[in-house]
Amino acid sequence: MGRLFVVSLEGKIYCCKHCGTHLALWEDIVSKSFHCRHGKAYLFNKVANVTAGEKEERMMMTGLHTVADIFCVRCGSIVGWKYETAHEKSQKYKEGKSVLERFKISGPDGSNYWTSHEAYVGGSDADDV
Ligand SMILES: [Zn+2]
Repeated sequence: MGRLFVVSLEGKIYCCKHCGTHLALWEDIVSKSFHCRHGKAYLFNKVANVTAGEKEERMMMTGLHTVADIFCVRCGSIVGWKYETAHEKSQKYKEGKSVLERFKISGPDGSNYWTSHEAYVGGSDADDV
């Protein structure tokens, strides 16, 4: 059933909440001050084991961005989005970086405290503060 390469990370790891696939490292966090529809989200320098969906223009709190949703390579859960292009000069630092929704991942800081089981409706339209 196709090729599935899953990279193992070492250190303080953030995993897919659903299947445990390693997605990112604590040391690669750029900012924890991002927000998505479900609450907190973290901006990472790089993420692993994700596939990107269609690029689309998305208007966020900080302006227009070209983004692509990213999905866990193993279970296909949407885990966040990647910034392809930031149209505002002040937001250029985000280009090539990815946001993981805190709600969708488990990690070294306070794992398993989430209680929400609301249905995920797809898309992430908020941005940093
Ligand atoms: Zn997964």
